[in-house]
Amino acid sequence: MLNSIFGIQPEALSAFLGEYFPAYRSKQLLHWIYGRQVCDPAQMTDLPADFKSFIQSSFSFNMPAIRQKNQSRDGSVKFRLALEDQAQIEMVLIPEGRKMTLCVSSQAGCARACAFCATGSMRLSRSLEAHEIVQQLLLARQNSPQPITNLVFMGMGEPLDNLDNVLEALKLIQHEAALAFSPRRTTLSTCGIVPGIHLLADSGVKVKLAVSLNSARDELRSELMPVNLKYPLPVLKRALLYYLQKSRYRVTLEYILIPGVNMGGQDLKALRKFSGDLACKINFIPYNPVPGLPYAAPAPEEVEEFMQRAQSLPQAIMLRHSRGSDIGGACGQLVVAAKATNNGGS
Ligand code: SF4
Repeated sequence: MLNSIFGIQPEALSAFLGEYFPAYRSKQLLHWIYGRQVCDPAQMTDLPADFKSFIQSSFSFNMPAIRQKNQSRDGSVKFRLALEDQAQIEMVLIPEGRKMTLCVSSQAGCARACAFCATGSMRLSRSLEAHEIVQQLLLARQNSPQPITNLVFMGMGEPLDNLDNVLEALKLIQHEAALAFSPRRTTLSTCGIVPGIHLLADSGVKVKLAVSLNSARDELRSELMPVNLKYPLPVLKRALLYYLQKSRYRVTLEYILIPGVNMGGQDLKALRKFSGDLACKINFIPYNPVPGLPYAAPAPEEVEEFMQRAQSLPQAIMLRHSRGSDIGGACGQLVVAAKATNNGGS
């Protein structure tokens, strides 16, 4: 099977093609793909036939197929994509004024089994290759009515469980000769894989880090997120301090609000203690119910009352309403049947 062109770093591509063609040919090819989002050599009109036939016999230009597209009332659009082996993933485009955020998947399914998450109930089908992450951004650019300004790794999967491929994809996404996407506008969200946070901090790849915290009480967090049994809060906290030391970006703590679970006085007290000396901001997100899971959405009054109490936290706090909930495209709702068999989900 040929390597996908969409996973080759520009330097490697230039070095390879430079053995057979003048240097400007690889620049032209990169410009067609990443500058114009033209992924089919047949449509690259100023390339000579011998060059086109050489690249087609050297690389795969296959793109994922868009199997389904759902538009939310709030303007978000969820895409279901079928990969070459027919594994399926989802990505979501989220417009907000002049901002257009793309939420990408890093795995088909997820092994982390967070209790509130639809993807977690699917189990892991497989991790995505670097090119399958890059292709999401290319497809989104082709299908977005406005330029994509922000990129978040908050779709299906735990990015730090697929760190090598995510880093490889990020290099292409941020490379000046490829997608040239700003690291300041790229956020990777993790459930708290401590070794992965260290490796990411040491990788030299710049990206904003968000942690799906959801509780600062070890017992409750372990119930909601089994990862906490392996990397409990004090260990996670040390990893975040390390990340902060290495990166110039503040960390974001994501906290899903689930009534009767993590919105009480002791929850806020624990959050204050956990986040006290951390340069972070905290996003509170009202839970989006998932059919089959035992958690409800909070009432607007419950959210308002909680947010008033949360004003006492020393950090910047924000109430973020997850978008696309009517199409199952909001935080924690992404789920597809893997390889056309129903692997669980809802
Ligand atoms: S919240 Fe993230 S890490 Fe947890 S199961 Fe869902 S996709 Fe996996």
